Amino acid sequence: MDDAAQDLTNRTDMTAYWMPFTANRQFKAAPRMLVSASGMYYRSDDGREILDGTAGLWCVNAGHGRSEIAAAVQHQLMTLDYAPSFQMGHPIAFDFAARLARIAPPGLDRIFYVNSGSEAVDTALKMAIAYHRARGEGQRVRLVGRERAYHGVGFGGISVGGLVNNRRSYPLLTSDHIRHTQDPRNAFARGLPLHGAERADDLEQLVALHGAETIAAVIVEPVAGAGGVLPPPQGYLERLRAICDKHGILLIFDEVITGFGRLGTPFAAQFFGVTPDLMTTAKGITNATVPMGAVFASRKVHDAVVGGGAEGAVEFFHGYTYSGHPAACAAGLATLDIYEREGLFANAAAMAPLWEEALHGLKDAPNVVDIRNVGLMAAIELAPRPGAPAARGYQALVKTFEAGLTVRVAGDIVCLSPPLIINAEQVGRVAEILRGVLTYLD
Ligand code: PLP
Repeated sequence: MDDAAQDLTNRTDMTAYWMPFTANRQFKAAPRMLVSASGMYYRSDDGREILDGTAGLWCVNAGHGRSEIAAAVQHQLMTLDYAPSFQMGHPIAFDFAARLARIAPPGLDRIFYVNSGSEAVDTALKMAIAYHRARGEGQRVRLVGRERAYHGVGFGGISVGGLVNNRRSYPLLTSDHIRHTQDPRNAFARGLPLHGAERADDLEQLVALHGAETIAAVIVEPVAGAGGVLPPPQGYLERLRAICDKHGILLIFDEVITGFGRLGTPFAAQFFGVTPDLMTTAKGITNATVPMGAVFASRKVHDAVVGGGAEGAVEFFHGYTYSGHPAACAAGLATLDIYEREGLFANAAAMAPLWEEALHGLKDAPNVVDIRNVGLMAAIELAPRPGAPAARGYQALVKTFEAGLTVRVAGDIVCLSPPLIINAEQVGRVAEILRGVLTYLD
């Protein structure tokens, strides 16, 4: 660390900030500080360029420092900084919804704004229950999630979420879970694995146990992200869709990570050719510049909830002060312009085979027990160090940062999701840094 950087670190009082999802004491003893960013790179406080292997937290899809977004936000703030969205409107919120509807999966073109992925999930779960109630099926309140799922940190999201640490201290709500699709026969599968579509039939078992008439919705990430990048087996999502249809259960795709081009299509729904009834998004919606999320609802759900049906109301009793915030809508419109102008979803699709090749080339590195990929997502699963689960993953995080790459770890699984602007040389560099680090892990 040079003197100027040391000085900066010394001047930063770290005590007050209670950091999220971080072992605070451990981090503060040896901080990894990012001070600026441009394109594919962060700069650390010691002046090093760090390749962004994770698009921030799976969200900076168009890369960093996009001046067009900053200019649009500034212009909006100087024109109309804030306006309520309850019983009042402002044009940019309608304009942005219309643009989002144009890239939505078929029929999913009613857009409800929120401020985060967690809010999107809680909103979608409430919409599902409101839908059934409006149609005279108010007993459908049971929500089904999946093992290893991450649906944010709201009470709805942790109820359907399947990451044990996130839920076990808060046993307030109950829900049911279907098993995850990961199957040992799929180790080192490239793209969508072959085995495991029959796991969707777990839902039939829950129907047999509880009765379909009690189940409101099933929520899944089309590709589980935070749980360790778990692509669904071929045919799995289609089967889940069919079972939901058979029993009148709504299917929710949580596309907070997979939305906005991660798989090379606007949404995973289009990649898989499976259309849910509700879809949650956030992150890439504004290139992560301004917090925002959106729930994409089918007309069927929208019309039932606000159409005044059997027990229906004419409004959905839900919303946030910042729903449709003008600055967020401006950021979102400018972000969509970049995605379209620069063909970034197509770039993700074009880079995906190279990405797959480069990462699977690490198969022979020590301790690697699985490599998975789809679109511009990937995971390298490491064998846990005996008696110290997650220690090897944490060491990989620290060492890759020192070597100039950000990764995300889930236990001993190293997760990657670079910005969609990545080029062939940078794909190669990601693999090169990883090889250097994996070779020397304890
Ligand atoms: N859903 C999924 C699939 C996510 O990956 C995340 C965050 O990573 C969330 C929900 C929660 O989003 P947020 O952190 O914006 O609340």
